[in-house]
Amino acid sequence: MEPLGPDLKALPKAHLHLHLTGGMRPTTLVELAAEQGRKLPAGLLDPASVDLDATQLRGWHKFQRLYDAARTVLVGPAEVQRVVHEIVEDQAAAGVGWLELQVDPSSYAGRLGGLHATVEIVLDALRNDLGVGTGLVLAGNRTRHPSEAETLARLARRFDGVVGLGLSNDETRGDTRDFEKAFRLARDGGLIAVPHAGELRGAGSVQLAVERLGAQRLGHGVRAVEDPALLELLADLEVCCEVNPVSNVALHVHKSVADNPWRELRAAGVPVAVGADDPLLFRADLLANYAALGAGDHELADLARCSIRASTAPADVRASMLAGVDAWLARPG
Ligand SMILES: [Zn+2]
Repeated sequence: MEPLGPDLKALPKAHLHLHLTGGMRPTTLVELAAEQGRKLPAGLLDPASVDLDATQLRGWHKFQRLYDAARTVLVGPAEVQRVVHEIVEDQAAAGVGWLELQVDPSSYAGRLGGLHATVEIVLDALRNDLGVGTGLVLAGNRTRHPSEAETLARLARRFDGVVGLGLSNDETRGDTRDFEKAFRLARDGGLIAVPHAGELRGAGSVQLAVERLGAQRLGHGVRAVEDPALLELLADLEVCCEVNPVSNVALHVHKSVADNPWRELRAAGVPVAVGADDPLLFRADLLANYAALGAGDHELADLARCSIRASTAPADVRASMLAGVDAWLARPG
């Protein structure tokens, strides 16, 4: 059988679920750690050797510790710029025409000169001539005080390249309702609401994210399938689920990619955009996530269209990417 790789690369798509540190190349992590004389935890060098059962508190903490350890190598602007440049290069190589990178600036502000400077540095590094259009999502942390997310929402409104407000970290902690004000501020400022929900918690969490936060896309959202009425709501409102199949298996949300409900979501009319989440930890880039689904050409084209339509890319970029999907589907052979 022909490998799926080359065909998937040629399929134009938007990548809407990728975190900054989690998008770092493993080789860059090792190189930066060596330069800085840091010893990396074994789980970062060989993530397959650790069990990251995020459905248990211990497993989530293990994941978080690895993530934090990876972030320690991003000691200043030069390192962050390098990682963002490499992320963009990797997206270009994977046929991504539009990238929305997710960053919690609070995690970097101490070493990059504050929140404002952090956003400037990342936005600057995202600019490229590789044909990858970009937007930045500022992610609030649901385990911290909601006023911090409100600060990020206000900050986000001040930058042209910031397109949305997210909400991440341990979904089992924090009360989604407490973040209503932050998301209202973001939406009033023309940003989209893209909180994580429906990963470690079920349909109720998704419902809150939609009703209280006005979520226009959901980070994961896969557990929405637990409630048929909720699926109908997501379909009616065209709320897109950013589905990260390999991440869900690594963190024990699903036993295998075969359990991922993307087909069920699509059958219910819910848009699905495939993402990689944290390829550094899950060792699967965007193409590997697409490939893992075992989807046929028409399904792949449908997923690519969903990602493009759910993105914040300007109308002309979307139109040309959608035309590219049609051309991909009509390709000879
Ligand atoms: Zn995520």
